This record gives sequence, structure tokens and C-alpha cells, in this order.
Amino acid sequence: MDLYEYQGKELFRRVGIPVSEGRLATTPGEARQAAEVLGGPVVVKAQVLTGGRGKAGGIKLAANAHEAEERAKEILGLDIRGHVVRKLWIERASDIAKEYYLSLTFDRGAKQALYMFTTEGGVDIEQVAAESPDALVQLRVDPLEGFHPWQARRLVYGAGVSDPSEQKQIAAIVGKLHEAFVGFDAMLCEINPLIVTPEGEVKALDSKFTVDDNALFRHPDVAEMRDLEAADPLEALARKKHVTYVRLDGDVGVLGNGAGLTMSTVDVVTFAGGRPANFCDLGGGGDAQGVVDALSVITQDPQVKAIFFNIFGGITRCDEVARGILQALGEMSLELPIVVRLDGTNAEEGRQILAEAAPANLRVSPTMLEAAKLAVELAA
Ligand code: GDP
Ligand code: MN
Repeated sequence: MDLYEYQGKELFRRVGIPVSEGRLATTPGEARQAAEVLGGPVVVKAQVLTGGRGKAGGIKLAANAHEAEERAKEILGLDIRGHVVRKLWIERASDIAKEYYLSLTFDRGAKQALYMFTTEGGVDIEQVAAESPDALVQLRVDPLEGFHPWQARRLVYGAGVSDPSEQKQIAAIVGKLHEAFVGFDAMLCEINPLIVTPEGEVKALDSKFTVDDNALFRHPDVAEMRDLEAADPLEALARKKHVTYVRLDGDVGVLGNGAGLTMSTVDVVTFAGGRPANFCDLGGGGDAQGVVDALSVITQDPQVKAIFFNIFGGITRCDEVARGILQALGEMSLELPIVVRLDGTNAEEGRQILAEAAPANLRVSPTMLEAAKLAVELAA
């Protein structure tokens, strides 16, 4: 789960990483009020779950409350790479002497957490990595040994920070970032830029914070930060029904059991010349309620013209899935053509059950490719 900048900064604040004071606003009027409360110049920042907001015109300085309201009018409603701005973070403006970069993420290959630090911050870190790789200091933390303060010093000296006060402040932030990363089960904690003010104060001016979905049950307060409105409405509905669903832009609705098979199903629909409308994983079971829930999400998408059920029976038996499909069709009125491919445990039995019931809009196909071709044909 990706957090907005203001939410990530709230978690930074909790572990003691310095951030600027700010307020959330959803209207120009609220932006003005926020700026009045904060006093003095502020920065008006678009809150969207994507980076590069500055370049896209989503970050603007305002000298006073009136200007904050004007900037808010310009930024609200802006489309930043498909993300429409509905929230603003109004923050007390900082004077910037230097922009650094600090992040902590996973090095999956090494099975360790990976720090990256450079004094060439502010810009795209990919650009620094490509153009001046020597300026980017990397350091891995063994999860069994944990973090040790010498590692922070190695990062700071390695990047060539020479001011003793800066060294001390950054080293402290490096340690606290590890605390946030481990404490909130994060997958990414990035500060770009980590600034030094003209007075020599170091603080996080931006935050990119991703928390592992699988650990959210341990952090109910973080789980509550999820913005359901920002998600695709169908994906939000799916989440409520505990259906694993990702919307795509084609017209063949895809239902599989198991993430791997469902991914292959998306591929095979494309291979057959069609365009998948979604990814939907039935998971382990194939009970009627699961099928009804999945179908009710998929058919909400008006682009769907045909549905392709791809089931491989393992522990889940095909006869059970077949009964689930029939029961689901009995419970909901569904006119769309459906193609079912059953293979694996009790496949023969499952096909027979479907053949005997013979709903008018349901076709059974023996192989994945043939079924995909048929579904693509029926969607056309
Ligand atoms: P991003 O473009 O989405 O990464 O958003 P950032 O929060 O990193 O802001 C982009 C840039 O705006 C920063 O690199 C700064 O140069 C500038 N900026 C953001 N906040 C302030 C501020 O308080 N004062 C000044 N002077 N510039 C700021
Ligand atoms: Mn940034």
C-alpha cells in the first residue's frame, strides 16, 4: 500500500525524523485557512500516489494565504499522469541550501534491506545512478544483525558529507528511517529531497512510503490510511468483497484459480488476439459464493463482452467449481457469453455437470487456447 506524502511524513514524525509542519486541504478555501494558521510563506503540494509532482506543476510556493488559495485553485483537479488531485498538503515553506537523497528498500537478491544515499538529491535518482554511480552510496543491512550506528556513519562519510553537524543529523535520520522501515513493515521509505536549510537544519521535504499489504493487519492505524476513493471504484468494490481483482482495459473478462494460472490466462487471451478486461483470481476455493462475488465485480465493467473461466483442479475439484458456476448463474441474471475450460482433478465430472445443465450462454472448451479463442470471438 502506497501512502501519500503527508501520511508518510506523519510516520516519519512518529519515529522522530524532522518534517515541516503542515495541514491537509481539499478546497482553495481550506488551503487559505491552512496557510493562515501556519503563517508566512507556504508550499502547496498535490497529494497523489505518483512521483514527479514538481515537474508536473503540482508543487507551488505561495508567499501568503491569498496566494495559497490561488495556487490551490490551479493544482486541485490537475491530472498528474492519470492521478487527479483531490487533496493538498499545505506546508510551511523551507529555505533550501542543499538537496540530498536517502532511501531504504529491499535488495531481494541479497535478502537484505538496502540503503541508498547521495548528496546529489532532488533530481531523479535513476539519473544519478546512471550518470554518476560513484556518487550513490549503497549499504545493506543484515536482518539478523539489525542496524548498527556505524552503518549510518559509513553512508554519511561515503557520500562525502563533511559538515560535522550535518553528519550527526543525517546519521540520526538514517537510524530512524530503519526504525520506521522495520516498525511499519515498509517495503520502501524514500526521502527525496532530504534538505539542509541555510541554517544547517536537516529535514525530510518529501516522503515516499510503501507498506507491505500483508503486514497491514499489524498496523490497523496505517491500514486506515488507505484512500478508497483514489482507487478504481471496481477495485474498491472487489476489495470489499475480498475478490482479488485488477482492472485492465479490454473486453474479455478473465477468471482463473490461482494467481499464476490467472496471469497465464491474461496472456493467452492476448495471444488469441483479444484484450483481457481484468485479472481476477478465484483463489483456492471455487464455491458458489466466491464465483458470485467474482462475477458480480467483473460484470460491473460495461466493457466486458464475454467471460473466460479458466480452472485447473488441484485441491479444488472441478466438479465443485462447475456446481459453483451453475449456482452462481442461478442466483444472478447473466446474459453474457461464458466460456469454461476445466482441467485437472475431476475435470470430466465437472464438464458433464455443465453439459447436463446446459445454460444457453455457457460453452465448455477442452483446452486453454481453444477456450481463449472462443472467448475472444464471442467478445468481438
Ligand atoms: P516530487 O516532485 O513529487 O518529488 O515532490 P517534492 O516534494 O520532492 O517537491 C519537488 C521539489 O519542489 C523539491 O525538490 C524542491 O525543490 C521543491 N520544494 C518542495 N517543497 C519546498 C519548500 O518548502 N521550499 C522550497 N524552496 N522548495 C520546495
Ligand atoms: Mn520528491
